[in-house]
Amino acid sequence: MPNFSDEVIVITGGSRGIGRATALACIRSGAKVVFSYRGNEAAALETINECRAIGSADRIRAVQADVCSEEDVVKLFTAARTHFGTISGVVNNAGVVAPSMPLAEMDAERIRNVLETNVFGALLVARQAARDLADGGALVNVGSMASKLGSPNEYVDYAASKGALDSLTIGLSKELGPRNIRVNAVRPGLIATEIHASGGRPERIAELGPNCPLGRPGDADEVAAAIVWLLSTEASYVTGSFIDVAGGR
Ligand code: NAP
Repeated sequence: MPNFSDEVIVITGGSRGIGRATALACIRSGAKVVFSYRGNEAAALETINECRAIGSADRIRAVQADVCSEEDVVKLFTAARTHFGTISGVVNNAGVVAPSMPLAEMDAERIRNVLETNVFGALLVARQAARDLADGGALVNVGSMASKLGSPNEYVDYAASKGALDSLTIGLSKELGPRNIRVNAVRPGLIATEIHASGGRPERIAELGPNCPLGRPGDADEVAAAIVWLLSTEASYVTGSFIDVAGGR
């Protein structure tokens, strides 16, 4: 298991799902974590309580910060530096889906919302990482297998937003390579979190999970393990790369 020995890691969307699992995995590996959430304060407190249960409440901070707001993103990174010091890892995780439908039926507002969080917000977070990460640090973008599968009749807007994140990962890895900052992505497949209910389909996991080649949906902890590895020095020669955590989808 990687040992982060007090390294400071910023995670967007750490109040639930993959972000929470990543926050806990980082803490268990010895990191200090500052995570953001959009509005679900109760869920953010639950992440902190889970850290308290493993005796590490003093190693984690929650900041309400919308990734779509430049001011909020700066606030998040400033809080991390103020509380814990130099930032050595960033997980660009916050993301949203919207109800399943063919593109022809989507209204403009919905497409704008998905792109605003998953592309504009992710770019703001990546830009702040490029500014604030220590040389030798690491950024992990949380993309999706949707960028390769396209999500027809479900959400091609979401799939396209994750395609943008793939391009960002490749380009920024080349920009930041000379500072020895590694930029990689994980692409989860079907993972059991609340995101499916927020897209109006809580039954999606039970319906589609058995069709995955591994015969089941994934767990947030299984994605977190890949993120932690990419953040760690165990991945010291890995940049511009993608780990598909998708059970063979
Ligand atoms: P989730 O359970 O719905 O959690 C989403 C998290 O993102 C929450 O902490 C939420 O905060 C936060 N968030 C959403 N919009 C935000 C914003 N504008 N600013 C700041 N925080 C925001 O989602 P998840 O399944 O863990 O997904 C995490 C990432 O994995 C996303 O990028 C998603 O696209 C990707 N992914 C997930 C799956 C899957 O099957 N679960 C598959 C592929 C990729 P609040 O709690 O305050 O709302």
